[in-house]
Amino acid sequence: MPPTVAEIDLTAFTQNVHAVRARLSASCELMAVVKANAYGHGAIALAESALQAGATWLAVARCDEGMVLRLHGIDAPILLLGPVWPGEIDTLLTYRLTPVIGSLEAARLVQQQAQQRGQRVAVHVNVDTGMGRLGLQPHHIPALLDEMETLTHLDWQGVMTHLATADHPDERILQEQWQGFCRVVQTLHDRGVAPRYLHAANSAALYRFPQTHGQIVRPGLALYGVHPFEAPAADVLRPVLRWKTRLARLATLSPGHGVSYGHTFVASRPSRIGTLPVGYADGLCRRLSNVGEVLVHGQRAPFVGQITMDMCMIDVTDIPQAQMGDEVVLIGAQGSDRITVEAMASHCGQSPYEVFCAISARVPRRYIV
Ligand SMILES: *Cc1c(COP(=O)(O)O)cnc(C)c1O
Repeated sequence: MPPTVAEIDLTAFTQNVHAVRARLSASCELMAVVKANAYGHGAIALAESALQAGATWLAVARCDEGMVLRLHGIDAPILLLGPVWPGEIDTLLTYRLTPVIGSLEAARLVQQQAQQRGQRVAVHVNVDTGMGRLGLQPHHIPALLDEMETLTHLDWQGVMTHLATADHPDERILQEQWQGFCRVVQTLHDRGVAPRYLHAANSAALYRFPQTHGQIVRPGLALYGVHPFEAPAADVLRPVLRWKTRLARLATLSPGHGVSYGHTFVASRPSRIGTLPVGYADGLCRRLSNVGEVLVHGQRAPFVGQITMDMCMIDVTDIPQAQMGDEVVLIGAQGSDRITVEAMASHCGQSPYEVFCAISARVPRRYIV
């Protein structure tokens, strides 16, 4: 095993899936969002675990993310959240991905190729009720309805929207979006279109706004053990990812000795400086330089000097038992202490989403149960 790995705790992940499911009514399904390599956790293993734990759908952002899941034998329905590209429709039909339709043009393009192949395709309509990112705006819905008869090979299986402010204390925008969504659903019903799945809830909405659950919810972050906002303490989500490395070098530097590029850290006392084989090419945020901390023997040690591409340095002067090869934890628990992804994110001025997604392909994911 290389020294720097991300341990992925599949038991914790499974428990999070169960915790989320416990919040849903019996008829509400769970779509596990595994885009971006399951937020850096490894899409295949986590997709399989999510399905075993009761998720019935998966969601990805890109066509090739869905294709990779299929090539690994995953048979569950997969929603393709990202925009439909003309050049990818063949692939999405071949791999039975469920496209999200965000424009009339997209609907026509999918129809055209589905018809050519003699294949029916389930689709979900995305309505832009306020996110301003993807989807048909509500005033485009009548045109879609007028054309539906000619879209003979599309099955209107779902209608969705994405909420922009579900994790925000002010509920106003969320309520507007939700009402806008309900109006669109009503318009569809009035024209005899009643898709089986209405869905809107990401992790934050799932916890805060049960009225948005619909027939399926789409959490990502919560499944990976991060509360989308200050959640009631009763609902404990468990961290899934633990990022660790080992001490590759220990040196005692005299007062006045600088560390790393630019000497942004200069020893003010005789200092034991440890070198870790992890840097920004592994996804370690450079803004942690001289700011963040790691755990060594269950004690906190600060990053000193600039984080470099492949390595970084920590000050272990106050942890005399630290030895070459010792385990160092960047994210996760060690001893009785823990560095949370939220803490690391706040040190780098980022969100937990960004910290997870940044952990690069160079860091092996090791699955534990
Ligand atoms: C990423 C994404 C989600 C999941 O969001 P979380 O905040 O991680 O729960 C749900 N729906 C859509 C459309 C997304 O893009």
